[in-house]
Amino acid sequence: MVDSPGNRISPVPVEVGRANLHDVRVRWDDRHESLFPARDLRLLCPCAVCVSEDTGERILVPTQVPVGVQPLRIEAVGRYAIQVFWSDGHSSGIYSFDYLMENCPCPLCRRPVSPGNS
Ligand SMILES: [Zn+2]
Ligand SMILES: [Zn+2]
Repeated sequence: MVDSPGNRISPVPVEVGRANLHDVRVRWDDRHESLFPARDLRLLCPCAVCVSEDTGERILVPTQVPVGVQPLRIEAVGRYAIQVFWSDGHSSGIYSFDYLMENCPCPLCRRPVSPGNS
């Protein structure tokens, strides 16, 4: 599938932070809000240690991630991504806004995409 730039307005987070002990909240400028369970977000880490650069296959083993893993720090990376420093010492993951949006767990985004729209 090809994204046509200019045809798509990517929302930008206006606020990224801890919602509580176990969740990370991203508030978007389209007023939509993503609430990522911290561990799920950790498991989504897109860095080269967690995802094979050759195959795109996820090599991170979920059992290696502590159940109570938490983001210690969240920093903006340029104007397109955030970097999360995790309590398990992992911090190489750069989560682009698009990536976060794609993986937004809210019911609106989890709506099945209608087929035949290629
Ligand atoms: Zn990673
Ligand atoms: Zn959503």
